[in-house]
Amino acid sequence: MVGMERTKMYIQEPEKRKNNFSLVSTGYTKDEVIEEAKRCLNCKIPQCSKACPIQNRIPEFISEVKNGNFEKAYEIIKTKSLLSDICSTVCPHEKQCEGSCVRGIKGEPVAIGSIERFVSEWANENLKESYTKEPNGKKIAIIGAGPAGISCALYLLSKGYKVVFYEKENYVGGVLKWGIPSFRLSDKIVDNYYEKLKKMNAEFHFNYKVGKDNSLDDLLKNEGYDACFIGIGACSSNVMNIEGEDLKGVYSADDFLSKINLSELKGDRRYFDECGERVLIVGGGNVAMDAARCAVRLPQVKKVSIVYRRTEQEMPACSIELEHAKEEGIEFLTLKNPVKFIGKDSKLTQAECAVMVLGEPDASGRRRPVESNEDHIFLDVDTCVLALGFSNEKEISMYTKDLEADKWGCFIVDENNMTSREGIYAGGDAVTGADTVVRAMKAGINAAKAIDTKLS
Ligand SMILES: Cc1cc2nc3c(=O)[nH]c(=O)nc-3n(C[C@H](O)[C@H](O)[C@H](O)COP(=O)(O)OP(=O)(O)OC[C@H]3O[C@@H](n4cnc5c(N)ncnc54)[C@H](O)[C@@H]3O)c2cc1C
Repeated sequence: MVGMERTKMYIQEPEKRKNNFSLVSTGYTKDEVIEEAKRCLNCKIPQCSKACPIQNRIPEFISEVKNGNFEKAYEIIKTKSLLSDICSTVCPHEKQCEGSCVRGIKGEPVAIGSIERFVSEWANENLKESYTKEPNGKKIAIIGAGPAGISCALYLLSKGYKVVFYEKENYVGGVLKWGIPSFRLSDKIVDNYYEKLKKMNAEFHFNYKVGKDNSLDDLLKNEGYDACFIGIGACSSNVMNIEGEDLKGVYSADDFLSKINLSELKGDRRYFDECGERVLIVGGGNVAMDAARCAVRLPQVKKVSIVYRRTEQEMPACSIELEHAKEEGIEFLTLKNPVKFIGKDSKLTQAECAVMVLGEPDASGRRRPVESNEDHIFLDVDTCVLALGFSNEKEISMYTKDLEADKWGCFIVDENNMTSREGIYAGGDAVTGADTVVRAMKAGINAAKAIDTKLS
């Protein structure tokens, strides 16, 4: 029936894309995006906007796309989003806007993310932005150059503030750069933000970790900042605390993904020679899927398996990520849990896994995995990646006077994203724990607006 199915877009075949780190899909063409936009029913009470964390004005910008008015569509998107080319690509749309689209009740929801992506990329190529702004004489420090810090900075720069970044790595983007692989989000899009920030006269101190040795109190006192925003994310990988975890060949997800995603792109491939031929990923979330899908693209890798202690139904990863991982030949070993890593000469050779069954529901509402009486299984592996979630770093809260964080290390903030210290704001994963890009952006903008209101 007309309108029930989405307009198709080009997607690289699994056998082809397994051999490159290029985008799985380059998105809609102009004709395709207009055709897809016409599927939008322009609901009077748009559930899609309600389900979007930033209440993006979805039917409004889609109406402009229907008529080919891409510039007008972009203007509407910009009123809510400062990172639309990124969010349109990586947001978990099926759990947000598209998950609430009325079209989805009887057929496929409108491809809202892909429509927004077309408009944002069209704007990047076709619109010239003006970056000059009369300085207002006020200076703000931003700690961490991930999506939260970038968004806060973009808003403040547009209002004439001097913005100075302190970033512990030597690049801009945070997880967008080291974590999300280039076959899901192109490096060019992320790097454009660094270029844009430089054009807007933002200043950068790279390889500068704020914490014990470079205290925030000293920084704020010595440099005379009017306010500060902390957007340091939540990137301490969780561990299993089992025997053999320190063997060579066992990696945390952040270490493994950084080694691959920050490596030089040679042609359309990346290389990580130490990885060996057989890779085992532990976990069932999006980070596990990213690690597995990166591994499968390495030239020497012959087999990639995911072990997960529950069943596929309980996996937190988005369905599209699961589907792509399966298409790319990744093996799923559910109801298994590593209990020991075995090695030879300090190098990992095997993972010993218990066979699990599902018991009563736990606090998360999902049935708790418990070990069965079955014999353990032994998997021959060269590399194992632990994708078990992330925790917050506590160093800044520990070494900054009166700056309060909860027991997990998340900064405590008010509705303006201000911390317990006047003039110090925080947002993104540093406040919520591991979350999403769009929520980090929202927090960065919210804090920037509050800083502007306070100082102007
Ligand atoms: C592998 C992976 C895939 C993901 N995929 C998606 C996805 O598809 N869609 C989605 O919406 N979300 C995804 N997420 C989550 C999303 O990336 C995060 O929610 C988001 O990046 C949080 O932004 P942030 O700015 O708060 O933190 P981050 O992106 O973590 O940025 C924090 C920055 O602060 C810097 N920093 C840290 N400590 C200090 C310090 N002491 N001093 C100075 N600088 C410091 C870091 O180097 C980093 O640059 C993914 C996460 C991971 C790990």
